[in-house]
Amino acid sequence: DELREAITAGEFVVYYQPIVALADAHVVGHEALVRWAHPTRELLSPGDFLDVAEDTGLITAIGAQVLDQVCVMLAERPALAGPISVNISAVQLSAPGWLTSVRDTLAARRVDPVRIVIEVTEAAVLSLVDSARVALATLRELGVGIHVDDFGTGYSSISVLRDLPVTGVKLDLRFVQDLTAGDSQANALAQGVSGLVEGMHLNGVAEGIETKMQADLLRAQGWECGQGYYFGRPVATPMTHH
Ligand code: C2E
Ligand code: MG
Ligand code: MG
Repeated sequence: DELREAITAGEFVVYYQPIVALADAHVVGHEALVRWAHPTRELLSPGDFLDVAEDTGLITAIGAQVLDQVCVMLAERPALAGPISVNISAVQLSAPGWLTSVRDTLAARRVDPVRIVIEVTEAAVLSLVDSARVALATLRELGVGIHVDDFGTGYSSISVLRDLPVTGVKLDLRFVQDLTAGDSQANALAQGVSGLVEGMHLNGVAEGIETKMQADLLRAQGWECGQGYYFGRPVATPMTHH
């Protein structure tokens, strides 16, 4: 009930976390991360309300507000570097009107589709209905990027790259946080995925980078882009200059 009221009251806000080139840390884009500016509690993160939002289907309405806010921001700030990555859950993808809603929002806000990247998790992709696959393919044809989020944590990592018009891969932060200074299984995994990304000419983004060691190691492995507290936390207003 509270979520329903929050949608009507417009309590969902979008935070933006920079995605940087690991070569020189310049900002190449941002990820949009939803927050709930709850009237009586602290700012709530997706972990606090996303499950309920998905189970009730309210994520569809929240997601529409998120995309609209992202498009308004992009329209207001044409100088902002790179695209904005927007997370979309399986429930949203499978909702009948989703594709139309995305297209209408982009058109209404006059946002070039190349300025939007859609992040879908492997888990979401696994459960996709045919209409959702068509929706993703249609958006890709319009120029929207498609990134597989939390790559490596699902059961279908490689087949996702074959079956969907994927333009990029985000290495899950759990892999990044396991990286070590010496040789380790985590390092070998990150290195292997980097080779896959390079061989398939995909965009590679390593997420959850918190230390210089992790940034240096991933860059040396061939990861082109990174994201994490080491480079910048999610903030209400993205930086135009770095
Ligand atoms: P995600 O898409 O994998 O996003 C990355 C999460 O890692 C974010 O958590 C971000 O704040 C956090 N993070 C970034 N850098 C670091 C770091 O250096 N260390 C650590 N430990 N964490 C870091 P957040 O914002 O709580 O979002 C959690 C998840 O909620 C997201 O994971 C995404 O799956 C989902 N989500 C976020 N916004 C939306 C949305 O608008 N719609 C939908 N459907 N899902 C969303
Ligand atoms: Mg994401
Ligand atoms: Mg992720």
